[in-house]
Amino acid sequence: MPDTLIIRTPAKINLSLDITGRLPNGYHTMHSVFQTVGIYDTLTLTKTAPDQPMTLTCNAPDVPCDERNLVWKAAVRLLGDQPRGLTIHLEKQIPSQAGMGGGSSDCAAALKGIRQLFALPVSDPALHAIAASLGADCAFFLYGGTCCAGGIGDELTPLPDLPRYPLVIAKGNEGISTPEAYRRLDAYEAALPHDTKHVLDALQSDADTLFSVCGNHFDAITDLVEVETIRRIMRSHGLNPVLSGSGAAVFAGCAEPQRAEACARDLCAAGLAFVTVTETVPAG
Ligand code: ATP
Repeated sequence: MPDTLIIRTPAKINLSLDITGRLPNGYHTMHSVFQTVGIYDTLTLTKTAPDQPMTLTCNAPDVPCDERNLVWKAAVRLLGDQPRGLTIHLEKQIPSQAGMGGGSSDCAAALKGIRQLFALPVSDPALHAIAASLGADCAFFLYGGTCCAGGIGDELTPLPDLPRYPLVIAKGNEGISTPEAYRRLDAYEAALPHDTKHVLDALQSDADTLFSVCGNHFDAITDLVEVETIRRIMRSHGLNPVLSGSGAAVFAGCAEPQRAEACARDLCAAGLAFVTVTETVPAG
């Protein structure tokens, strides 16, 4: 058994995100297609002397390195309230307040990695239950690839992997808090299209057909200046801009990487804080 595990933790986008209702406890129900993409944080787990208190470090100054971090919470759930015998280092690449699930992906990787490093007798269903209790998107990242999500995002059906399709993803400095985004959506009265059924039908089609039917209910209530700029530039390249999660990252996919790259050049020229060309990535 190695003493160190280095794990790349992928970001996600939502190819579709329909918010289908609100439960009495305030949780929202959804119908969505989740997809992992080729932007990664890196989690390094190292075993230390069994009596040494756990430490967590991170390259990003705005990420808390204590019990507020989802990686810390994962360790507590598997190793107890005062975790020992482990150092964790997190290198963040996935932007925050983006709707790309960075913290949730780190959390799922920590759960799997700690179970492996300490050879813990925790079954897959038990790990799933822990992940789902730690954050809405954590359970998805135990699978990765393409998944259909129902319920409050916790009922997951893995789908066949997509080919590696090109994507351009951009985000400005402005973020939108998830609770605020849901408040706006709750107050929104017009009917919104349900994109998930169209996305599910188009998963076997070519990339351009699939990405032309992608959509997200939060698109209707997000009017941040930088999001509008990203949308305008993506549309000028014939692409369909779609928010990921509750934002504020926007993605567009297509068949040819050159088109994504040309769009990314214009997004960079507009001075956006985060612009990348990547691809959909399979499970595992
Ligand atoms: P989501 O896609 O789930 O809406 P997000 O886009 O808001 O996530 P994240 O990077 O997942 O972005 O995290 C947002 C907040 O969660 C951060 O402000 C941070 O304080 C906290 N957080 C907890 N654990 C982590 C982690 N491992 N990495 C980054 N942020 C974390």
